Amino acid sequence: MTDTNHPARESMEYDVVIVGAGPSGLSAAIRLKQIDPDLSVVVLEKGSEVGAHILSGAVLDPIGLNRLIPDWKERGAPVRTAVTDDNFYVLGEGGQVRVPNWPMPRLMNNHGNYIVSMGSVCRWLAEQAEELGVEIFPGMAASQVVWDGDRVKGVVAGEMGLQSDGTPGPNYEPGMELHGKYVFIGEGVRGSLAKEIINRLNLSEGHEPQKYGLGMKEIWEVDPSKFQKGRVVHTMGWPLGRNAGGGSFIYHYEDNLVMLGFVVHLNYENPYLYPYMEFQRFKHHPMVAELLEGGKRISYGARAISEGGYQSLPELSFAGGVLLGCSAGMVNVPRIKGNHNAMISGIEAAEAAAAAIAAGREGDRLSDYDTAVRTGAIGQDLRKVRNVKPAWSRYGLWPSLILGGMDMWGAGLTGRNILGGWKHGKTDAEATGKAAKFKPIDYPKPDGKLSFDRLTNVAFSFTNHGESQPCHLKLKDPTIPIRVNLPEYALNRPWFTGE
Ligand SMILES: Cc1cc2nc3c(=O)[nH]c(=O)nc-3n(C[C@H](O)[C@H](O)[C@H](O)COP(=O)(O)OP(=O)(O)OC[C@H]3O[C@@H](n4cnc5c(N)ncnc54)[C@H](O)[C@@H]3O)c2cc1C
Repeated sequence: MTDTNHPARESMEYDVVIVGAGPSGLSAAIRLKQIDPDLSVVVLEKGSEVGAHILSGAVLDPIGLNRLIPDWKERGAPVRTAVTDDNFYVLGEGGQVRVPNWPMPRLMNNHGNYIVSMGSVCRWLAEQAEELGVEIFPGMAASQVVWDGDRVKGVVAGEMGLQSDGTPGPNYEPGMELHGKYVFIGEGVRGSLAKEIINRLNLSEGHEPQKYGLGMKEIWEVDPSKFQKGRVVHTMGWPLGRNAGGGSFIYHYEDNLVMLGFVVHLNYENPYLYPYMEFQRFKHHPMVAELLEGGKRISYGARAISEGGYQSLPELSFAGGVLLGCSAGMVNVPRIKGNHNAMISGIEAAEAAAAAIAAGREGDRLSDYDTAVRTGAIGQDLRKVRNVKPAWSRYGLWPSLILGGMDMWGAGLTGRNILGGWKHGKTDAEATGKAAKFKPIDYPKPDGKLSFDRLTNVAFSFTNHGESQPCHLKLKDPTIPIRVNLPEYALNRPWFTGE
């Protein structure tokens, strides 16, 4: 049975259908073919090419890559810039305090990690996958889940020509159904198919709500005299202060390119807070401005980051498939790293599916995968930091640095969290306060040199959308923005009205 109002589609059968050519999906594809070259494996990627939708610029913990392709160096992986210098600062408005490395929990240490362009890493992973015989279809979104009762049987791919109201337009193409013995969902954070599956099968029941941050990144070409290849800087404090959790990262990559970004936790109370402008303002801090002055912004991007961690992982397997990487939320928040866990999740899922298929199974639950994630390397990585985000939400920056630091130290040494297992308690939306309780925040106007207005910066994201394509964000009740959000949460500021 297929949940669709559109014409019957042709179908193709695969052993494993993978949605998303991110680090999780590509690692799964590679591992499947390493185990059994005869398995038929297809990867669908909605970006025009692999890597097009990956927010590049990351510090990669190579633990997943080492396990997947141990000779990655010899194979020319674009993983070349080893971290040489690791710094953590707490910023005030006009200055900064460096937190020395010695009291930092060992897991926060970036030595042994690499500064990479994840877009390039994904393109290289795709080449490795194709060499093994994986079929990769870029430019092809999986737009619907194909259900057989409560089993996920496949996805619809390549449906095109829908109008903005979701009805077929004159150039409508129904696409195809791709059926798999198992379907892996590797869409990244808050993907539409993952949301549908999690909701329909209640996969989050009994788990804490997922939490999110908004991450923004810019790549800058800086004055060569200021560039220090391999240098990593993380900051907290100004400009967010007590208004919100979050912080920045500055990675000196290669060729005078610096990847600079800012994350704002979305459980802030003050509805006047504008994450984008916090990022722009951050670049005017003397320490950051000094680095950027005389440089050039090359690109911009923004996307959500999952922050719920261990306690927010939903059930990871369901009849006919699994959730990979950030489709389930596998980011280690204090480390701001999720690529290593995404890769390991792909490997674990592949191993579980290959074993099941070899045993003649199909379409059932891969509960071995669920167990491997919770009790293996990913679970261990996430458990150690499980109290950092709840401590931050409850007590703010300094107490959470001390409490979270102690808990991470304890967990690193003994494997147990001295604070136990704290809960998030509520969703980010439930944390938002009413505008009447807060004063508007007066953000300085972007100067066009270090800071930029949002529309100009969006042009540097190089994203492309058809004017008439249906919007994937759907309002459940279209009257709410005017009836509730505007009067109660003051959503009439320039950045919402486009003035
Ligand atoms: C600002 C920011 C900074 C970060 N910094 C780091 C860092 O320094 N180090 C680190 O390790 N991690 C970092 N992360 C986290 C890291 O990006 C994620 O953990 C990682 O990308 C998860 O990999 P994934 O494969 O699950 O999903 P993704 O990397 O998001 O890949 C998903 C892919 O699926 C595609 N897709 C989605 N839906 C569909 C669909 N329906 N059909 C077809 N294709 C689809 C997307 O286009 C995308 O290519 C950062 C995240 C953010 C937001």
